[in-house]
Amino acid sequence: MTDKIKVKTTLVELDGDEMTRVMWRMVKEKLLFPYLDMNIDYYDLHVKHRDDTDDQVTVDAAKAIMKYGVGVKCATITPNEDRVKEYQLKKAWKSPNGTIRAMLDGTVFRKPILVNNIKPNVSSWKKPIIIGRHAYGDVYNNFEMPIPGAGKLEVVFTPQDGSAAQKTLVHDFSGPGIIQINHNLEKSILAFARACFTYALDEKVDLWFSTKDTISKTYDATFREIFDREFEANWKEKFARTGIEYFFTLIDDAVARVMKSEGGMLWALKNYDGDVLSDMVASACGSLAMMTSVLVSPHGWYEYEAAHGTVQKHYYKHLKGEETSSNSMALIFAWTGGLRKRGEMDNTPQVVDFADKLEAAALETVESGTMTGDLLALAEKKPSNRKVNTEGFIDAIAAALQKKIHG
Ligand code: NAP
Ligand code: MG
Repeated sequence: MTDKIKVKTTLVELDGDEMTRVMWRMVKEKLLFPYLDMNIDYYDLHVKHRDDTDDQVTVDAAKAIMKYGVGVKCATITPNEDRVKEYQLKKAWKSPNGTIRAMLDGTVFRKPILVNNIKPNVSSWKKPIIIGRHAYGDVYNNFEMPIPGAGKLEVVFTPQDGSAAQKTLVHDFSGPGIIQINHNLEKSILAFARACFTYALDEKVDLWFSTKDTISKTYDATFREIFDREFEANWKEKFARTGIEYFFTLIDDAVARVMKSEGGMLWALKNYDGDVLSDMVASACGSLAMMTSVLVSPHGWYEYEAAHGTVQKHYYKHLKGEETSSNSMALIFAWTGGLRKRGEMDNTPQVVDFADKLEAAALETVESGTMTGDLLALAEKKPSNRKVNTEGFIDAIAAALQKKIHG
């Protein structure tokens, strides 16, 4: 056994729930601990522990990411009424991801993991399409109301500084209807723009941004102006040096172009557009278990995780002692993403190299035909294909990794 690779700065680990907690542990024991000497600042976000600490553990974990810079998170239960009963919780605590996102002020980027034996449904796509979704405002924090009958709808803005209120007629209704009022904040849009420029530069990919600014001449146009201004002021030269581009186009034009592209870009989208189009990209690329997710904060903090949930149904089978075939790919990529970023920040190329090798081992395992049930259903049919169980998949990756490291 060669010496373990030293991870210089403490890595923040956020443990989670159900089947992903089971896989998370196996990933650490079989793929990471044998090779890495790392200092881990551990936070147990198991739903029961969040309950015991009145969710303080989630806040502490977010603070630790702010202190050290990089966190790796397992999937967690967002409690609803069923979960409150199941785990006898004090209350339905807020989504940990929501709490952490609010504290880090971050933007979530989602990127599919591509393998050569599972073809995206869009045949031109050769490289991953990464979606950057703005996570504040618009229809998600809107005001809506039914209009019962004829009458005037007016909006009033009352400035805090005591100057005169502005009243504007929105619509003069001649009969029943509906209304919806959206808002957004310059501060949030700027943080979103900065996170997108940061991510594109990190990943060395072009950045596309699209809105409907021809129709929405104030709202969507403000998004565009903020992006354009930020690019000119702080990113233009860095992008040119790296050989990547920032490109704005109308949302409908972007959709048409993406369908004919090779992929390989970051596509920044407003909240609703990102919600809808990230599901389209994920579904065209196959399985939920092949989608990674990273929260990038404009302050330079990162949190890596899988895009999927805790795989609850598989966990109940596991508890009954039945065999499961759950896919740990995105969980592994959460760790490699975090380790690679740690290595880049610490200037420790051997850590980056380890992350590359582990990803390559995981991809080769699937490409050689050894895979979990979700992937077997999608992969090109070949005699070498075989379905393995949850642990068998991680063991196969461990064997491939062992070869890469020890030859
Ligand atoms: P889910 O865990 O994403 O799973 C939904 C279905 O997708 C599974 O039943 C399974 O399909 C398939 N799937 C997802 N990940 C898979 C994997 N790694 N390997 C194989 N198949 C996989 O969503 P959910 O069951 O609706 O949610 C469960 C819990 O997760 C909820 O309590 C929710 O709050 C939480 N959640 C957490 C996060 C997060 O922490 N980021 C995100 C979303 C949801 P089959 O059953 O057909 O095999
Ligand atoms: Mg959605």
